[in-house]
Amino acid sequence: MALRRAAARVVLAAFAAALLAPSRPASGEGVPPAPNPFLAAADLAVGTSSRQVRGLRLAVGAGTALLAEGSAALVTGPDGVPAGLFLSGKGTFEYASKDPREHSAVRWAVKKNTSLSPASSEAGLVVKDSFATLLWLASGAPLPELPAGEPGPSLADAFGKHRARFARIQEPPFSHLLSAARRDAPARPVVRAEATGGREDLVFLHDALEAGRESLSTSGRLQLRLRYGDDRPWAILLAEQPLAGDLFDPPEPRAALTHVDLSLTASAGTGASISVTETFQARRGAVGTLLLDLLDTAEVQTGSSLIETEMSWSVRQRRQRIEERPVRVTGVFDDAGRPLPFDHRNDQVAVALAAPVAEGKSVRVRFELEGGLLVRPLDNNYWILGTQPWFPLPGLAAQAFTARVTVRVKKPFRPIAPGTTVRRAEEGDSHVVETRLEKPVQYLTILAGAFDWEEETKDGVTLRVASHGGRNPTAYRSLLDLGFATTGFFEVFLGKMPVRELTIVEQASWGMGQSPAGLLLITSEAFNPMGKGAYRRAAAGVNERFAHELAHQWWGHGVRMPSLSEQWLSESFAEYCSAFFIRRVAGSQSYDLYLNLWRTRAKETKGSVPILLAHRLRARSDQLQAERLRSQLLYARGPLVLAAIHAEIGDEAFLTFLSNVQSTLGGGNGSTRQVEEVLEAVTEKDWTPFFDLYVRGEAIPEVPSAK
Ligand SMILES: [Zn+2]
Repeated sequence: MALRRAAARVVLAAFAAALLAPSRPASGEGVPPAPNPFLAAADLAVGTSSRQVRGLRLAVGAGTALLAEGSAALVTGPDGVPAGLFLSGKGTFEYASKDPREHSAVRWAVKKNTSLSPASSEAGLVVKDSFATLLWLASGAPLPELPAGEPGPSLADAFGKHRARFARIQEPPFSHLLSAARRDAPARPVVRAEATGGREDLVFLHDALEAGRESLSTSGRLQLRLRYGDDRPWAILLAEQPLAGDLFDPPEPRAALTHVDLSLTASAGTGASISVTETFQARRGAVGTLLLDLLDTAEVQTGSSLIETEMSWSVRQRRQRIEERPVRVTGVFDDAGRPLPFDHRNDQVAVALAAPVAEGKSVRVRFELEGGLLVRPLDNNYWILGTQPWFPLPGLAAQAFTARVTVRVKKPFRPIAPGTTVRRAEEGDSHVVETRLEKPVQYLTILAGAFDWEEETKDGVTLRVASHGGRNPTAYRSLLDLGFATTGFFEVFLGKMPVRELTIVEQASWGMGQSPAGLLLITSEAFNPMGKGAYRRAAAGVNERFAHELAHQWWGHGVRMPSLSEQWLSESFAEYCSAFFIRRVAGSQSYDLYLNLWRTRAKETKGSVPILLAHRLRARSDQLQAERLRSQLLYARGPLVLAAIHAEIGDEAFLTFLSNVQSTLGGGNGSTRQVEEVLEAVTEKDWTPFFDLYVRGEAIPEVPSAK
């Protein structure tokens, strides 16, 4: 880690020097490097002197730190400008969650991840802990004057220890956000408080710039990752609320990613180099700094695949390790080819644009990346770049990009990319494919491997079925037939499939599916239904899984989710459409089997959290239970809510409802509130109490059987 960071700094210094060259007189010793704003924001120190203080209070939004007695010192950056305060002594930190609809999720996370007990008060549900040291960093929020009284001891050592402790946490670097706030909106409050020395380490973030939210987190080593030999602490969210508006309002990003022009060249091994030009549009105020997700390592699980471990809820006892291969940004450039200062750390890249982009205007930025990105699941003869940020990506709400993709791989591998095929060619020892995604999507998945395939076009829809490890004409035929039948069924009430070209790709392992835009990834049992053991058992549910995955082209891609809070719009709606398909082909009894399964599974979620907070279930020592509950909320309780609506309003109105959601929200981000409005328009009835109970609340609906 440290080595890679050092290397990144060397690269940075080189680009920064190039930037400065025209404006500085040349000196014998070369051009001094330009200050990188992100590295400068991370470079903090306390002075040699502190002040003794009593009753010092620091507060913003829902967070309050109180130093009963102790010492405080000013924290400054390399330029000597105050960045915050460092407190040492006897103190308390508290955070108040205001909205009662969040409280069950806060209680659940606090109970599963800390030894603290939240308490109700007038301010809301309060999480409180003591601290021995607290670092308060702020931009746009005034710091209190330190009293002129008694000088205190030097806090330099305590500050060093405190910084080292929090630097280990796996989370996006605060220096990126701090720097963005200083550069783009110095008056907007951005505050981070880190407290340690009490029962838990706590991190409070108040972000009026990027997220418009405030949150409380703790950190901890994750049981599952410890088994793989990874003992780093990870940030664990305990509470989060908006600074303005409703708890469930979707995020409003500052800049949206609207187009991606990506070219990837794969080696025959694990290495890839990527050149990607991204177009961003400023959506909320002027934007001079971009903060984007980007892996800094590709993670390979040895011993078994990540997919295999995720699908089985029982932990495998086999010895497994995580191998990390670095991913490097070798340069970031503006449209004129001039290098831009950047910092890539902890899975985030921050870029300082040469000048702010006015709201409504766009800017293009080119990234050059390289690294061991190509991970082969279960050591198979293909690799996949999936939904992780393997190229720079903003948050979900900010992803709405069209794309042009070129993939070049060494023979005998053949590339698969989503979208309309523009060109497929052999160039020397490489296979090349070029595709276009003409409608905005989130994420981009590409694969390459020893794939064979067959394709067919009907009524303007091209389906392609690709297997790895040999031709499989029987599977091609049956999956093309199933694909056209299912597409035809959905198109009747959901409208045209948002992509007109879809590749169905065989994945190693079994019992799994995944559906990035323009792709349907499904495990081997769909290709070999006569297999043995686990394959045969998994094959029993393959039509349902296929229908669920196909439905994601409408639910997830047609109507996109602006945040994980709205994941039910993708998963529960896809699951319900799958059950509806099965009802049509196999009768009401099959549908009733679904209902029974959902009822049983939904019962497990009793007393947990609302469907809209399913993503907040995190437990450092019980990740499997957390993941299981999350699944039951999205794949059982969510579909049960839709079944309840269906049972109440009948087939015709229900299909009109789904159809209208697609026609009004398709092509953009959806939200529960908008879906509710569509339902109200169709049924001429107020559904707010229903959604308050079953979607924003914790009740589980009763649904009569179809027969
Ligand atoms: Zn799904």
